[in-house]
Amino acid sequence: MTHISPPEQNSDAAAQRLLTLALQVSAASTRSSVGETLLSGALDLTGAAAGAVFLLDESAGGLETVAFQEQEAGLGGPACLATLRAAVEAWPPEVQSSGTAGPCTVVPLSMAGQLLGALVLDLGAAQAQDAPADRALPAALHLLAAHGALALDRVRVADELRVRTKRTRELEERRAALDAFVAFTEVSAGTSQGLELATHAVDVLRATLGDLSVAYYERTDGLWKARVWSDDLTPEVVASITAGVAPEAPSFARAVDSRDVLFIPGWDAGYEEVAQTESYGAVALYPCFVAEEARGMLAMGIQRAGEWSEREQAVFRAVGSSLRLALERAEDARQLQVQNAELAARTRVLEAFADLTRRLTLHGDPYALIHRAQDVVRSLLPDGAATYYEPEGPLWRVKSQSGDLRHAELQAALDAGLPLDSAQNLNVPYTSHQPYYQDVYDLDTDQLHEHVRHIGATATLPVTVRGEVRGVFAVALFGRRRWSETDRAMLDTVVYSLGLALEGAQALRELDRTQHYLKVVAENAPLLLFATDAQGVFTLSEGRLLTRLGLQPEQAVGQCATTLFQHEPDLRAGTWLAGALAGESTHGLMQVESSGITLETWFVPLRDEKGQVSEVVGVSLDVTERLEAQRQVERANEELRRSNHELEQFAYVASHDLQEPLRTVTSFSQLLARKHGGQLDEKSELYLRMIGEGSARMSRLLQDLLAFSRVTTGARTSVRVDTADVLAQVVQDLHGQIEQTSADLQVFPLPTVQGDPTQVRQIFQNLIGNALKFSVPERAPRITVTACRMGREVQFSVQDNGIGIAPEFFERIFTIFQRLHTRDQYEGNGIGLSITHRIIERHRGRLWLESTPGQGSTFFFTLPADG
Ligand code: ADP
Repeated sequence: MTHISPPEQNSDAAAQRLLTLALQVSAASTRSSVGETLLSGALDLTGAAAGAVFLLDESAGGLETVAFQEQEAGLGGPACLATLRAAVEAWPPEVQSSGTAGPCTVVPLSMAGQLLGALVLDLGAAQAQDAPADRALPAALHLLAAHGALALDRVRVADELRVRTKRTRELEERRAALDAFVAFTEVSAGTSQGLELATHAVDVLRATLGDLSVAYYERTDGLWKARVWSDDLTPEVVASITAGVAPEAPSFARAVDSRDVLFIPGWDAGYEEVAQTESYGAVALYPCFVAEEARGMLAMGIQRAGEWSEREQAVFRAVGSSLRLALERAEDARQLQVQNAELAARTRVLEAFADLTRRLTLHGDPYALIHRAQDVVRSLLPDGAATYYEPEGPLWRVKSQSGDLRHAELQAALDAGLPLDSAQNLNVPYTSHQPYYQDVYDLDTDQLHEHVRHIGATATLPVTVRGEVRGVFAVALFGRRRWSETDRAMLDTVVYSLGLALEGAQALRELDRTQHYLKVVAENAPLLLFATDAQGVFTLSEGRLLTRLGLQPEQAVGQCATTLFQHEPDLRAGTWLAGALAGESTHGLMQVESSGITLETWFVPLRDEKGQVSEVVGVSLDVTERLEAQRQVERANEELRRSNHELEQFAYVASHDLQEPLRTVTSFSQLLARKHGGQLDEKSELYLRMIGEGSARMSRLLQDLLAFSRVTTGARTSVRVDTADVLAQVVQDLHGQIEQTSADLQVFPLPTVQGDPTQVRQIFQNLIGNALKFSVPERAPRITVTACRMGREVQFSVQDNGIGIAPEFFERIFTIFQRLHTRDQYEGNGIGLSITHRIIERHRGRLWLESTPGQGSTFFFTLPADG
């Protein structure tokens, strides 16, 4: 345990030394130099092996080593920093007086009762040697420590002062920047003109920062040209910077690249490539970007070289960014103005067009419309002329023109028509359906060369009517023009509206025409056109029928239909009209008793946009005569039916009832022949034979007649008939005949039909039988049967290679008992085809033939298809 005794009387030399050391400590101006001198002094005084000065670091909550020294490394004792630190840490700080901790002596460094840190010395060896048996030593140490604490406190106060001063300066700078910003904002609020804003920026900078030069540049013709500058600039500098600085000038280029403010402390006019600026020592540049484009450059320069002060930098930054913001705002305002102008232009055009279409619907002349559109366009554009072309044969013809073309030959060329293939300005919009704008009219476009030198800009637009380009609307200006969005919007709108108006006018003309035709029809045909409102009150009635109904043309209008026809039993209820008013299309026949005519009337409801019936239109036809004719036909048909029926009855009765007397004749003539067989003379024999043959023939004829009449008198059965089966049976029936004639019968697939099976069989039997019968003797019959479906019918054909029929007999062969040959040549009664014809007719089919005499015939017939 080591103890340092209180100081006692000391020698002068020691006091002198202590004083020197204390002075040194007091003179130190930083924490570390205070620590260093304090420690060196203490080591010097005590001869300690090692020592350190620790200061309390409140913010870090620990000890900060500000000085450490070892006299000789490893010289006995724990002379290392860690041991010294441990000694301080073990030493209770509240003691605040020197003490020992292990082998170390700890001297507190405190000021006005506040502990600042500690001086720690390893006095182990020095103590043992007892060399300085100097009792004043601890007192000296304390004195030194007190000086150290004093010095440390002074350093702290000085540091604090420095921080405060800096902060105050910063605040001042900020305030200056803020003032400058406010000043600029105030002066610039009233303007959106770029140069005016820049002038304000220059003034504010000068007012705030005093004696320095300011200039504002804009990019013009590829150079940075000064547009505004402070009054202090010499004429030479002004001449140089207004002539322009190349964008490659190092500082200008750097400011643009970095898009940030640039402070150049050492300005070298030569290097920087800005002539006449040698007198400036420092320059600052602020690039102003608007819409991603470097529009302006704010620059300030000062004669002195060296860094720009914080305040100058802050103010320059503030004014620069305010100027940039103001320029952006100005740009927004400008764009808004452009948009407004565009809107205003459109409104003007639309108003003009509303007026135009109103007028045009009145007279509907398309070229008057086009001319009006041309006038409108010319009123909205600078000096020029408007022409409208339509293709006519090989030429583009001017159909309407507004304004003088100011060139007689050009006018003559246009009046004569431009060849279709040479006028590109017209062909492009015509074929592409797109407008074609030329800001600078290319003189070669239309092969008009010398005639068009005075034309600066052109616009040609297709005029589309109902989806088709009808012509080209052309505008030629005598000066050049960058066709702006507004121009284009205006022209597009005019030409589009023109198309619509032309369409409307065309529709109007067509409507006029339709109305005219309707009027002509109504006046000349026996009909009546009418319309009623939703209450059934006539709003229109026109037509020749009016007179027949005993009405004046306008008499019906304004009257309710039921009232108008209150004395007409068929009309007064207004049933059909009521149906139409309820939304149904109705149609009916009505008798007008007062005029003795019958009307056939159609009622059609018309609906409004809500779907409610708003009107009924209708047409009435006088069908009195037609109905009478129809009735007559019906009567005639009825009579025909009846007489047909009677004839059929007659044929049936005749054929049936005649059989009986015929049989009597036959049997008695046979009795007579038997009784007098061989006794009669030759003539009588012949007579008897002739009676027998005649009655036999008559019997066949009667049977045939009966069969013929039965075709229609028999019950009608219509069922599904498989014609393939039918044909197989027929072939079977005709087997002997087929064998006998060595006929070749070819049958293609046959379908099912709807019909009477027996009668269908009869058809095939008759046709194939005839084909076998009417063959050429030396030629074996070849018969082909085909069928093919045709819609709801099946068409059959029976073809042979027989004797054929001359065309003049095509009709006759279908008549009953009509034959083309004698019975000696070909067997038969001439009944087969008549029955066949009747059967087919009864089945609602048709029978016809094609034939070439000597080559063969084809009989065609149709029957209803099955399903
Ligand atoms: P039929 O066979 O009893 O004479 P049809 O009414 O069947 O009576 O025929 C009427 C006439 O039509 C026949 O006499 C004949 O002259 C002619 N004919 C009918 N079919 C044919 C045929 N396939 N080829 C040539 N002539 C025919």
